[in-house]
Amino acid sequence: MRIVAAELHLVRLNLVHEFRTSSHAKDHLEHILIRLVDESGAVGWGEIASSPDPYFNAENTASCWMVAHDYLLPAVLGAKWDNPAELTALWNRVRGNYFAKAGIDVAAWDLWSRTNESSLSVALGGIRREVTAGVSLGIEPTIDELLAQVEKQVGMGYHRIKLKIAPGWDIEPVRAVRDAYPKLDVHVDANAAYTEAPEHLAALRGFDAFGLTMIEQPFAARDLLAHSRLQQSIETPICLDESIEQLADLELALSIDAIQVLNIKVSRMGGLSPALAAHDRAREAGLPGWCGGMHEFGIGRAANVALSSLAGFVLPSDVSGSEKYYARDILTTPIAAVDGIVKVPSGPGLGFTVDSEFLAKNRHKYAELSVR
Ligand code: MG
Repeated sequence: MRIVAAELHLVRLNLVHEFRTSSHAKDHLEHILIRLVDESGAVGWGEIASSPDPYFNAENTASCWMVAHDYLLPAVLGAKWDNPAELTALWNRVRGNYFAKAGIDVAAWDLWSRTNESSLSVALGGIRREVTAGVSLGIEPTIDELLAQVEKQVGMGYHRIKLKIAPGWDIEPVRAVRDAYPKLDVHVDANAAYTEAPEHLAALRGFDAFGLTMIEQPFAARDLLAHSRLQQSIETPICLDESIEQLADLELALSIDAIQVLNIKVSRMGGLSPALAAHDRAREAGLPGWCGGMHEFGIGRAANVALSSLAGFVLPSDVSGSEKYYARDILTTPIAAVDGIVKVPSGPGLGFTVDSEFLAKNRHKYAELSVR
């Protein structure tokens, strides 16, 4: 297989509800859609779902555009490969920049599985025909507004609610949700906002009273030792997200008991190929996994659905329906969750069609590269 042309489309969509985490707030999304074409004319789509600012990790939309356009796509264009897993070797001189890599990796997987007339799920080794979706709720101005959001999502049938937390917005909102929904699958995500200061540790230990499924990423990404120390002193399983960019990070976390649940995120790990490797290692280690999201548009969301169909994704994934985040998706048929369940498409590749007219209307920047 040989990719001969690539396009980058910077597309902006407004969020239906502002989303706030411990580090920032956003009311719209700007993602870079990647379209690859091989020498037979077959097409594959991927999505670079980076945040606009370098707050989740060191990347941002502008850095992703530059790295994809100037380094990654030139490394891929014209090269011969048989399996999308080989792309990693083509750009191995480029350090980090996992979100940028992920968009191109997903496009290559879509192209490859379409060419083989296989669904992406089957190409990845998926076994599920439907996946259980969870929703992620941001930090709200008041506890009453948070409870209204939880009520809305539970009413939509979602099976798991994740609450974003930060120092000062932790025990009380979680207590309120737990009091209102004693049996709901609830977990919290701190996005690395806590330290080992006594008042922070008191809050984190306090979560043991609420029967949470997990506490996600309480401390800084590189501070695996702090996660290990906390896990030894609490019952609630610690889940790592930002800490795990490479398999070596997972190995280290396992070796010091800093992790009991793994959030596998396609963007954070640099694509489906590394996500697949992390899935296999987590399964071998007996670590339950779930697929995390970055508020992807339909393309990235469809890749998450396909990945979540693998056997090791035993907890609900961040694959809620498109309408939870934006009024209209860039797919002709948006991804839908019915009673918190998303069907895994059986059609070739990602299993969805890009709405090119709607994409063009919402596009703010475009570039193309090609080789003969
Ligand atoms: Mg997270």
